[in-house]
Amino acid sequence: MDIVKKLSCHCGAIELALKLPNGLEKLRKCNCSICSRRNAVVASVPLENLKIVKGHSELSRYTFNTHTAKHFFCSICGIYTHHQRRSVPTEYGFNIACLEGVNIEDYSHIGYLDGKNNHPKDIR
Ligand SMILES: [Zn+2]
Repeated sequence: MDIVKKLSCHCGAIELALKLPNGLEKLRKCNCSICSRRNAVVASVPLENLKIVKGHSELSRYTFNTHTAKHFFCSICGIYTHHQRRSVPTEYGFNIACLEGVNIEDYSHIGYLDGKNNHPKDIR
């Protein structure tokens, strides 16, 4: 089985190659201020397992608050593709709905992490 999967935005300007030897790991939604607005189901990959194949110049980056997490989206079609995580900066989260072969209805049962009240980086 091919463990390298293609992830693309809606217009196709952005294309990523993800190495997913164990399939979709750490599937989740999150209720924090940004995740609740985009409401994407995400999975995680180590940083080294995500490569930008095309669209470097179309990829926009958004940061806020601590500016640790880096949120990436297509500047043409606006679709969120991936983000460098704040809780685990050695990982990217990515939008599984952008991944080839994913039928998003199969993931309607995925629940929310409580990033709003119990983010691991906010607990002291
Ligand atoms: Zn696009």
